[in-house]
Amino acid sequence: MTTLNTDTPAFFSDICEVIRLFVDTRKIARTEAGDTPGQGFCVLHSLSQTDGMVTSTAGVYTDGDQAAAYTYRCDAGQGVLEQKRAAKRAAKISVYRALNDYFGTDMPWGSLTGIRPTKLLRDSQTRLGKDGARALFLNEFDVSRGKYDFAKGIVDAQAGLLPDADCDIDVYIGIPFCVTRCAYCSFSSNTPDVFSGAEDKYMDALMSELDMAEELLSGRNVRAVYIGGGTPTALSAKNLEKVAMRAAGIGKGALEFTVEAGRPDTITDEKLDIIKSCGASRISVNTQTLLDKTLVRIGRAHTAAQFFEAYRMAQHKGFDAINVDIIAGLPGETADDAAETLRSIIGLDPENITVHTLSIKRASKFATDNMDAFPTDTETAGMLERARGMLERADFHAYYMYRQKYMKGSLENAGYARGGKACLYNIDNMEELCGVIAFGAGGISKRIFSTEGRIERAANIKDLREYIARPAEMCARKRALFGQADRDVKNNEY
Ligand code: SF4
Repeated sequence: MTTLNTDTPAFFSDICEVIRLFVDTRKIARTEAGDTPGQGFCVLHSLSQTDGMVTSTAGVYTDGDQAAAYTYRCDAGQGVLEQKRAAKRAAKISVYRALNDYFGTDMPWGSLTGIRPTKLLRDSQTRLGKDGARALFLNEFDVSRGKYDFAKGIVDAQAGLLPDADCDIDVYIGIPFCVTRCAYCSFSSNTPDVFSGAEDKYMDALMSELDMAEELLSGRNVRAVYIGGGTPTALSAKNLEKVAMRAAGIGKGALEFTVEAGRPDTITDEKLDIIKSCGASRISVNTQTLLDKTLVRIGRAHTAAQFFEAYRMAQHKGFDAINVDIIAGLPGETADDAAETLRSIIGLDPENITVHTLSIKRASKFATDNMDAFPTDTETAGMLERARGMLERADFHAYYMYRQKYMKGSLENAGYARGGKACLYNIDNMEELCGVIAFGAGGISKRIFSTEGRIERAANIKDLREYIARPAEMCARKRALFGQADRDVKNNEY
C-alpha cells in the first residue's frame, strides 16, 4: 500500500505522478494532514511560502520510519500563475529528490512528468535564455544530459517549421473505428461488433458537423488537415471517399493533408487510390513490430507480410511522405527483436518513422494481462537509444516528441523524419502553438490565445452513440470556443 500525505491537496495528483515514476502502482491512497505515516510506503509532503520564497519538504517513510527526505527552496515568483507554477515545481522536485535518494534511481526526464518537454524547453528558453533553460532542465528538474540534448535537438529542428499562432489553424477529423482492438489501445476505436450498422449514421453526424467548417475557418489559414482515429481506412471505400473529399475541400491550400491508414489489414488498392485522388500528401502505414508472434499477442490481427504488402501498395501511389510507427517495450520482445524490426523498416525507405514506448493505459487490455512478459525499463530505454542511433545513421532526425502517462521507464515517443519531410500537424499538436478545429467523436478543439499564453479547449463526446445523437451540440461547443470574440480580437489587432 502506497500513501501520500500532503498539506497541499491541489498538488496531490501531480505528486502522485512523481511517485509513480518510482513505484509501480496506480492506486495511491490519500491520508489526512496531521496523520503520521503508518504501515507500508508513505510520502509525507509539506509546502510553505514566506519572504518571497517557497519551501517544499518531502519525506519517504517505510512502516512509519523515515528513510529519506529532501527540502527544496526557490523564488516564489510574481503573480498568481507564476506563484502556482513555482510552488508546484518545488513540490515535485522535493518529492522526486527524496524518492531518488531512497531508491537510488535516476529517471531519464528527472522530475518532469508532463507530456510536452520540448514545449517546456522552448518556453523556458524564451523566459530564461538558452543557458538558463539548460540549467533549469539539468540542475533543477534533474533531466539527464542525454534527454536534455535530445529535447534541445528537437526544439532546434522545429525552428522554421512553427505556425503563426494568430492566423494558422489545423483541422482534425476523427474516425473512431478499427478492425480489432490492439491490447494497448486507449483511443476512441470501436470494433465492428460496436460500429456495424452505425458507420453510415456516424458519417451523417460527421458531415453535419463538418458543415460548420467554413463558418469557423473564415479569416483563418488552414495549415494542416489530419484524418485520424481509430483507423480511417476501417471505413468502407464509399465513406472514406466522402470524408476525404470533404476534408480536401476544407483544407484547400493547406500545406499538408494526412490520412492515418494505420492498420495494414484495412488498406486496399482502392482505398489508397481514393486517398491519393483526394489530394492527401501523407499517409501512415503502421505495424508496431514485424514479429508475427508479437502481432498476435498484441491483438493486431495482421501479419508482417500484410504490412509489407500494404506498404508497397502505398509506396507505388507516390505520396509525399509515408510514416511507419513502431513500439519499443512490447511483451516478449528483446532489444535485438526491436532492432531487427527497425532495420527492416528503414530498408523500406519511408520518409517518417515514429518510435513509441509502450504505455500501459488504464483503458487497455494490457493493464490487466501480460504484466510479467514485458522487457525491463532499462531494456526498453536501451531499445530507444539503439533506435535513435540507427535512425540517425540512416539520416533521420527527431523532429517532435511527447510523453504519456504510464509509459514504460518514464521514457518518450519520438517522430523522426528525413529529407525535410517532418509532419507539421504532429509538431503543432505537441507544441500547442497552433489552434485546431476538431470534428468527430472524441476530437478536441483548441484555441490559442498567444498574447496571453493561454489555451482553451472544447471536447467532442467520445461515445459513438452519443456523438451520433448530438452533432449540433458539438457545433455549439466549437462556436463558443471560436466565436465572435475571436473576430473582435483579430479586428482590434489590425
Ligand atoms: S490500430 Fe490504433 S486505433 Fe486501432 S485498435 Fe490499434 S491502437 Fe487502437
